[in-house]
Amino acid sequence: MLGLIQDRPLLISSLIEYAALYHGDTEIVTRTVEGPIHRYGYRQLRDRAKQLANALTKLGVKPGDRIGTLAWNTYRHMELYYGVSGMGAVLHTINPRLFPEQIDYIANHAEDQYLFFDLTFAPLVEKLAPLLKTVKGFVLMTDKAHMPAGCTIPNLVCYEELIGAESTDYTWPDFDELTASSLCYTSGTTGNPKGVLYSHRSTLLHSFCVCTRDGLGLSSYDSALVIVPLFHANAWGVPYGAAMCGAKLVLPGPALDGKSVYELLRDEKCNFSLGVPTVWLAMFQYVDQNPSLDVKKDILLQRVVIGGSAAPRAMIERFDKQFSSYVIHAWGMTEMSPLGTTGNLLPKHMTLPADQRIDVQQKQGRVVYGVEIKITDDAGQELARDGKAFGDVKVRGPWITKGYFKGEGGKVLDDDGWFTTGDVATLDPDGYMQITDRSKDVIKSGGEWISSIDLENAAVGFPAVHEAAVIGVFHAKWQERPLLLVIPKPGQTVDKAALMTFLEGKVAKWWLPDDIVVVDELPHTATGKLLKIKLREQFKDYKLPTAGAAA
Ligand code: ADP
Repeated sequence: MLGLIQDRPLLISSLIEYAALYHGDTEIVTRTVEGPIHRYGYRQLRDRAKQLANALTKLGVKPGDRIGTLAWNTYRHMELYYGVSGMGAVLHTINPRLFPEQIDYIANHAEDQYLFFDLTFAPLVEKLAPLLKTVKGFVLMTDKAHMPAGCTIPNLVCYEELIGAESTDYTWPDFDELTASSLCYTSGTTGNPKGVLYSHRSTLLHSFCVCTRDGLGLSSYDSALVIVPLFHANAWGVPYGAAMCGAKLVLPGPALDGKSVYELLRDEKCNFSLGVPTVWLAMFQYVDQNPSLDVKKDILLQRVVIGGSAAPRAMIERFDKQFSSYVIHAWGMTEMSPLGTTGNLLPKHMTLPADQRIDVQQKQGRVVYGVEIKITDDAGQELARDGKAFGDVKVRGPWITKGYFKGEGGKVLDDDGWFTTGDVATLDPDGYMQITDRSKDVIKSGGEWISSIDLENAAVGFPAVHEAAVIGVFHAKWQERPLLLVIPKPGQTVDKAALMTFLEGKVAKWWLPDDIVVVDELPHTATGKLLKIKLREQFKDYKLPTAGAAA
């Protein structure tokens, strides 16, 4: 027997309609690419998204067509989020930090019909334009006054001119909630990037999770600085979740340096923010270099979501002590829309001493409702949730991919519908997950596994260390042993012996690195993760002092 409840489709257009009607004046504040701060409310965002939908219709864009973007976090990008998906087309956010040949591959693979881009990327688009076979026109996301002279991009249109003349009168079409809404390629550290194609339904369900207390807790009480890019896994679902609950959005545009981030947090009284660890390192550095700042008075941050890479303990502690901010350590991936686990506390943790509470926060958190999770051994057998056994993390749920765009990568689910994440983790009896590594980064020493993430976290706790990376290098006896690479903080030197002593007791003795190398920089992926493939390549012939005759 079927229930007798309406089956109105879950559509992205309903989010912006709701926000326009019930939070019409709640602000979306942008530091624009052109420079000045821009502000308007959800009502205007909805109206301009409708103007865009009218313009795209005139250009001949049909349901299902892919519209590419190479753009920062701005109100215009938000208009694309709603205008494109709302009309039934597919928003394809491209990460501009990828190599040009990857962008070329992605835009061609997605068969983008139009490409919208920010002024910053005009030189890049100029180079790429001849290679983009399916793109019929390029739209520069600026006004007439800022259109560059002498630009050679063919079929170039100015965004404000494109939508300016259009009516705000547009009726969002109704269609099946399973319709594709947006497309995001994984950064493809190995092989070509692969596309994850979200649906209206998956996006809406994920938004509910973003707005739950035990998800990201987003609500109309929040002023949210969204540092995580709109091109990185839908900015972790916040652009949609914010409209669902009417949160104020603060969008930093291209300015992600410590000073700009600090000032936006202060000026817009942000109580909530999200970003990968590296952006917070930049802000900490700015604070360190400006001791006259009154951080406690300036910064009202209550919750900071850190994900994308492991949040080091020292970072969680610093937010706690200096900023009085609670770090929600979150884990997920593009294939998961992206939320999987969030590091919220349980009632029993509330009275813990700070040190023990941070032990809990350092884990990647508990799985959110909607995602099922398990860890398995090499034979696929489920492992105990005892906080000790670690194995491959597998997930399933209504916002997790069931296959990549155009079937790339073949079958990705097992017979029971589980998706293998490529991460290795423990699950404790309370359900908190702790990532020990990407399966390809784990260090295999004499048949046992060493967690590079644990070692890195311990190393960045050393006062003179700015950033750390641990890779496995060849060792004849142990097969692989850990090598620690560190970047010193500006103006400081790292005493290797003191660092080694510091690490003792923080990790198991046999996990201690066999050597430490001080470096000037570490390579990162387009989403800010350490690019270990490159490091392994760079240090493949490195001779560990412990390797002796073996090397
Ligand atoms: P990309 O590969 O495109 O950068 P994702 O953001 O989807 O995109 O990467 C997902 C991966 O990032 C996860 O599988 C995991 O390895 C890593 N990751 C995400 N969050 C965390 C976290 N909190 N701690 C450790 N690793 C994380």
